[in-house]
Amino acid sequence: MSKPLSRDEQMRESLGLGAEDGRLEEEEEDEAPAPPSRRPMNGNGEVSRIRELEAKNLELQNKIQQQEAKKDEQVETIKKLANSRMANIEKKFQEKLAAKERECEDLQASASHDMQEMVLLKGRISELEKQLTGLGVEPSKSVSVTSLPESRLVAEVEKLRAENSSLKSRQMNGANKSTESLEAENRELKQMVDNLTAANSKLISSTKEKISPMEKVLDNYKNATDQNTLNDGTSAMSEQVKKLQQIILDESNARKKAVEELEALRQKMSSKSDLSSKSLSDAQSNVKQLQLSVHEKEKEMAILKQNLKAQQDDFTIKEKDLQRQIKFLQEETERLNKEGSSKLQETRSRLRKGGRRVLSDIKNLRVAMDAAKQGTNTLKQELLPIMKSFYQPLKKAVQRIEKIESGWKDKYVAEAAERKRLHNLVLELKGNIRVFCRVRPKLQHEDSELAIFFPEDGRPDIPESNIAVFDETKGTEKVFEFDRTFGPNSSQEQVFEEVEALVTSVLDGYNVCIFAYGQTGSGKTFTMEGSPQEKGINPRTLARLFEMITDKSQDFSYRVEFSILEIYNEEIKDLLEPGGNKKLEVRQGPDGNYVQDLYLAQVSSYDEVIKLWSKARENRTTFSNNINEHSSRSHLVLSVYARGENRSTGVQSYGKLHLVDLAGSERLSRTNATGDRLKEAQNINKSLSALGDVIAAAAGKQGHIPYRNSKLTHVLQDSLGQDSKTLMIVQSSPLVRDVGESICSLQFATRARTVELGQAKKHTMPGRKK
Ligand code: ADP
Ligand code: MG
Repeated sequence: MSKPLSRDEQMRESLGLGAEDGRLEEEEEDEAPAPPSRRPMNGNGEVSRIRELEAKNLELQNKIQQQEAKKDEQVETIKKLANSRMANIEKKFQEKLAAKERECEDLQASASHDMQEMVLLKGRISELEKQLTGLGVEPSKSVSVTSLPESRLVAEVEKLRAENSSLKSRQMNGANKSTESLEAENRELKQMVDNLTAANSKLISSTKEKISPMEKVLDNYKNATDQNTLNDGTSAMSEQVKKLQQIILDESNARKKAVEELEALRQKMSSKSDLSSKSLSDAQSNVKQLQLSVHEKEKEMAILKQNLKAQQDDFTIKEKDLQRQIKFLQEETERLNKEGSSKLQETRSRLRKGGRRVLSDIKNLRVAMDAAKQGTNTLKQELLPIMKSFYQPLKKAVQRIEKIESGWKDKYVAEAAERKRLHNLVLELKGNIRVFCRVRPKLQHEDSELAIFFPEDGRPDIPESNIAVFDETKGTEKVFEFDRTFGPNSSQEQVFEEVEALVTSVLDGYNVCIFAYGQTGSGKTFTMEGSPQEKGINPRTLARLFEMITDKSQDFSYRVEFSILEIYNEEIKDLLEPGGNKKLEVRQGPDGNYVQDLYLAQVSSYDEVIKLWSKARENRTTFSNNINEHSSRSHLVLSVYARGENRSTGVQSYGKLHLVDLAGSERLSRTNATGDRLKEAQNINKSLSALGDVIAAAAGKQGHIPYRNSKLTHVLQDSLGQDSKTLMIVQSSPLVRDVGESICSLQFATRARTVELGQAKKHTMPGRKK
């Protein structure tokens, strides 16, 4: 829970002073009674403190002024608001009043109309009475027209009117009359109308009563008189009686009508009174609501007034607080001023004293420095001749050492190069198949662990040119040695550097074969062909060959031919001229093995080769639905045939270079193949095991080497042979996932490495003497 704010804190908050300011002021208030000497300050500090306090003082005054202005503004706003609300209420009240007045007037008008109708009715009744009198019927006292209650009804209507006007005045006064009395009046009115109806019907029946004796008299008179004498009188009488009867009938009809009219009037009166009582109650409830809202507004006003008062009180308190603060700050300023000036003087005298001491120290130091300088000079004088005598021999010695050192460096470089040359020479003399190993990098989408390690992976236990392969299934690590290893970070350039000398020896008449071996996806095509950005061995070799031909063109002329073939399902396909259905077969010729009818394109530049190569690629694509799958199931052989002639001696050379991207070496079981796939896999197996057999037979120096066991070994026969230079690049995936296949490939390559094919031979013929 946070502790409640003190008035001081509230004030600071309301003035927007930060906590730091607050803390400072609090400290000052706490410390105010303490003697000023408790504050250790120097002169400058005091002055800045005074300035600070003055600035704060000014700021506080500004804030007070701002607060006052704000307060006035707020009071004005509240007043305006209250006035406008009162005006609104008054206006509404007036409107309602006017509506009520109109209603009352309407009511009055309809009442006076009713009264007129009543007067008319009264006139008719008196007319009727007169007619009765004319007929000799005494108008009954009991049914005296004048004593009929119409006059009372009129009086009641008058009364209702008076009531309405009194209601109006009561509304004006805001009186609160209950509707009950009005309802009672209505009831009374109804009673009166009922009475009137009863009186009318009584009148009718009494009139009838009076008429019936007259009719009897008339009948008697008719019977008693002589028929003859009476005849005339009777007819006159009967006519008169008829007339009288008609009058009576008319009268009774008129009476009925009057009664009906009275009934209608009664109903009208009752609905009128209903209406007026409803509108009265509406008006009353409106008045009540208005009174309530006026009351509410008054309450609001009172609250606002209270708030205003509280704010004013608050402001007064704050103002007082601020004034107290200002006073305190002014006192503090004064005190600090005084304190500051005395401190200033104190500091000044202290500085003066200190300064004097420093000055004397500096003086002493100067003396000491002068003495030291003198000493150094003397020493220099003494040392100079000695140094001079040492300098020349020292310089000579350094030069001698540098000379010796650079001599050693040169010697070391030369030694290393020689060692390498000798090593290569030994290999060449032995005619070994040379084996390089290249492990591709882990690709972006691959999440398997790494299984192959190099010495540069922080593994000093792995010898140079060796790799360690972790076999997860056995939990052991196998180490393989090669002539050269290339790790995941090796560049295409580094690989080419190592093969360059080999491939260019084709121009000297050697048969050379480089093949990339390994499971699908291990990087064979990347190493041999590469990509436009990262060119592999094939394009680099071809480019270098034409460069060398140009370089040597003064002494040698070359005729270069180029072919590209593919071995798929033990069939040779010409990728440069795929047209014919004729089966291509390997034949023995004067220059060794060759493929009969294979198209050999004569080429004289790298660009021509590239064009042919892209044509071959197109042809290869048309052989298959999926070029990637197809290329992993067929062997691709790029061949260069270079026939050279020494321009001066006429000595001829003929070398063949085969660059081979082998089909994937993965084992059949793993491919789980059937049908066409099975046939492909079997054929791949056949050719790769033939390759192994050829190598093994050569290693065992057996008389018969089974080159003919597969198209691959047959085509490559004279380049895998005893007088050729062969390089195998075994490719491997770096992943644990592929470690089984990797170990198979590495074992195959290790066996090949032990094969000694014997020293390679140049294929040359003596030239014609020129
Ligand atoms: P293969 O011909 O043996 O089936 P690829 O040469 O097609 O294998 O290589 C498989 C994938 O690995 C390709 O995407 C290729 O670009 C990539 N790759 C192989 N070797 C390397 C390498 N040394 N550096 C970078 N990527 C490589
Ligand atoms: Mg490939």
